[in-house]
Amino acid sequence: MPFRSLETADLAGKRALVRVDLNVPMADGRVTDDTRLRAVLPTIRFLSTKGAKVVLLAHFDRPKGKRVPEMSLKPVVGPLSALLEQPVAFADDCIGAEAAAVVDGLENGGVALLENIRYHAGEEKNDPAFAAELAKLGDLYVNDAFSAAHRAHASTEGLARLLPAYPGLQMQLELDMLDAALGAPKKPVLGIVGGAKVSTKLDLLNNLVEKLDRLAIGGGMANTFLAAQGHPVGSSLCEHDLGDTAREIMAKAAKAGCELLLPVDVVVAAEVKPNTATRVLALDEVKDGDLILDAGPKTVERLLAAMDDSKTFIWNGPLGVFEVPPFDAATVAAAKKAGELAQAGKLVAVAGGGDTVAALNHAGVAGEMTFVSTAGGAFLEWMEGKVLPGVAALEV
Ligand code: ADP
Ligand code: MG
Repeated sequence: MPFRSLETADLAGKRALVRVDLNVPMADGRVTDDTRLRAVLPTIRFLSTKGAKVVLLAHFDRPKGKRVPEMSLKPVVGPLSALLEQPVAFADDCIGAEAAAVVDGLENGGVALLENIRYHAGEEKNDPAFAAELAKLGDLYVNDAFSAAHRAHASTEGLARLLPAYPGLQMQLELDMLDAALGAPKKPVLGIVGGAKVSTKLDLLNNLVEKLDRLAIGGGMANTFLAAQGHPVGSSLCEHDLGDTAREIMAKAAKAGCELLLPVDVVVAAEVKPNTATRVLALDEVKDGDLILDAGPKTVERLLAAMDDSKTFIWNGPLGVFEVPPFDAATVAAAKKAGELAQAGKLVAVAGGGDTVAALNHAGVAGEMTFVSTAGGAFLEWMEGKVLPGVAALEV
């Protein structure tokens, strides 16, 4: 998948239409977390320093093709401008005369943000006429929003077909890291898939057993596998109707030469409550009323040893109910180990997923991993082996 490179592009005086993710958490019209704003700074600064006129395209929330004043991107202008330490012009619409006037007013190196692209129905429909209107505002297109790349929208896909298209720096980093984790990884490769349910991660499990040397299954979904093997799971979260599915995944793993690591012991309690009484049980000791809420110490030990024996590690889904201590123990132990090995240069450790990122932050090691993807759905679809339209459209 060869991509154009911004490093060698002729940018001076060019209008760069840059798709970014500015879908930041907001309360009462104020940005409450600027993580996503910080993520777009490197690409904007790079383009601006090279003398491009930087025109930012982004969505906010889901206005569904209508102007919804509460979903305006205007409140983002102040915080973004402060972080960039330069003015950010704002256009009240992302196409038409108003947008053109703001773009025409930019000096080389200047930055403008256009109003929520999802105010137009053509965005989510990937309407070619809408994409053509957007294309009038730029000489080249840069996509720095990996998190929106699983959607074929006008600003993520259609536009890339109309202008010379480049991955932004953040997008390029994400693609490089994902390639290092699953595309062309150093072997052996270990994965952890945890979280609540098998049913939400079927495509993921089916893809990973084909690609990984070892796959540890944890969290609530491990219970479904244990039950499928005939072990008691008490009153735990378990999709009993997915026994056949779990057995099919196990058979597929065996055929592909992927070793599945299922729990060998579990932590149970009578209720999900902070600091409640817990017991460590062997698999067949689980009784009616017991809730399996975390992996047991032997399971964790085996997992940490597997990390020591691996060169690459990819992780989605916590190993237990990490939100409620002490059921965060296995997740925190695995996170710390991965962070340590990554820092020592012994392991390429890549993780992603909403709750997984929260768990890594909880363990205090998000910054120690090789890469943590905050792209949510796009990260999962990529891990599922799906083609991301926004990435495919950038290929030359
Ligand atoms: P991600 O958002 O990273 O993809 P998921 O949404 O699939 O992860 O799963 C996260 C959820 O799984 C967490 O809320 C966690 O409490 C839950 N979970 C993990 N282990 C168990 C368990 N043994 N029983 C019930 N829920 C669990
Ligand atoms: Mg989740």
